[in-house]
Amino acid sequence: MTLRLYNTLSRTKEDFKPLDPKNVRMYVCGPTVYDYAHIGNARPVIVFDVLFRLLRHLYGENHVTYVRNLTDVDDKINARALRDYPDLPLNDAIRKVTEKTANQFQSDAKALGCLVPTHEPRATEHIQGMINMISTLITKGHAYVAAGEVLFAVDAMKDYGKLSGRKLEDQQAGARIAVEAHKKNPADFVLWKLSSADEPGWESPWGRGRPGWHIECSAMSVKYLGEVFDIHGGGLDLIFPHHENEIAQSRCAHGTSVMANVWMHNGFLQVEGKKMSKSDGNFYTISDVMRASNGATARFAMLMTHYTQPIDWTESKLVEAGVSLQKFQQWYVPPEHAFVDLAFLDALKDDLNTPQAFRELHRLSDNLAKSRAKENPEDHKDALSQFSRSLDLLGIAPQQIDFSDIKKQIDFSDIKKNVVIRLVEDRLVARHTKNWAESDRIRDELGALGIAIKDNKDGTTTWEVKR
Ligand code: AMP
Ligand code: ZN
Repeated sequence: MTLRLYNTLSRTKEDFKPLDPKNVRMYVCGPTVYDYAHIGNARPVIVFDVLFRLLRHLYGENHVTYVRNLTDVDDKINARALRDYPDLPLNDAIRKVTEKTANQFQSDAKALGCLVPTHEPRATEHIQGMINMISTLITKGHAYVAAGEVLFAVDAMKDYGKLSGRKLEDQQAGARIAVEAHKKNPADFVLWKLSSADEPGWESPWGRGRPGWHIECSAMSVKYLGEVFDIHGGGLDLIFPHHENEIAQSRCAHGTSVMANVWMHNGFLQVEGKKMSKSDGNFYTISDVMRASNGATARFAMLMTHYTQPIDWTESKLVEAGVSLQKFQQWYVPPEHAFVDLAFLDALKDDLNTPQAFRELHRLSDNLAKSRAKENPEDHKDALSQFSRSLDLLGIAPQQIDFSDIKKQIDFSDIKKNVVIRLVEDRLVARHTKNWAESDRIRDELGALGIAIKDNKDGTTTWEVKR
């Protein structure tokens, strides 16, 4: 079976045909870094990580380019910087907010078992690309300057609104034209706006200012993935206006008929039956969930629902996920090859049907329990390897070594970090294959390097420099 993905653009499930199987290219809109990510924000991060892993499995590890940006220019960031660091110069305050939030986001993503994307570009590092793109749009008659803003002219694009299915006439009917009299069409949106002296800004042909949100993703995607690429993803709420406007900018600037071939959107998450809200007391950051549970369980709970469906995030779902996860992880061995059960793989290839994939894993796990008694060690070993590879493919294998606290633990300047990491990994492999003599030998070798290790109940191994 070929990989099939639901495409918001065509509103059908389609066979996936990469533009270049040697370089499958995917862009996913990342967070605006002004506050801790909540458990809803974790959903696209996890869902598209599963797709990234699946694409790597199907096309080869080095044949997939995954870009997930960080939006570090936004008026919400400015407001947060002023609130949290009123005594600092604005630029310094903004940097503090974005650095802290971006670091937290990256460590959350890691704790949720997500691979690091190929590129994680920041908007502030691509301002020139945005300026170039806006200039092209003006030259081609798709944008104009008015009242201190550069605006995209939606009337200059024939099929604006195709992704969201919104017609311009519908949008105009309810628009309050008086408020934005400088716009030729009320649906025109900002590409660039001038900054006052106390707002962050960059020099541009239109004066010192800052980019609109949508142009950030258009500029970063073309830089890393080209004018047309394979998959563009994000949450359902981004279809309009964000993705609609990304498409408008990119297609008009490059003169292409599509920006990305497949547009994928994850459904929304609510908590205990209600929209998450701080005042209702049902608002959870990823860190909150991690304290009460752990990354693999949260990831498992998220994947129990198909990504296009809404999720109701509940305590009982986490408990259920924890039980299944334990059942699956008991079989884990470092996989000896990359084969997996076909029914399991077909489930994932059917538009990432993770609930069906879990049903297949339950079946396989039950078979493993039965076959253990039988006298066919080679087959059993192969089944274990396939099962384990499946857990890797979903990012729920047990032996994730948690190095997130490494920086806090030690100063690396005088020890060879890579050597330690390799030894710890080798030792985990030895432990999984029950090679206790080798495991003890590595412990001694690490000891001689001045490293103490600790095997945790959850299957991870942590380490620190002996004082
Ligand atoms: P934001 O930082 O608000 O732009 O959101 C980052 C990503 O999280 C986007 O892809 C959003 O669509 C997604 N997202 C935000 N809230 C939720 C939610 N409650 N459920 C699922 N996805 C969400
Ligand atoms: Zn975007």
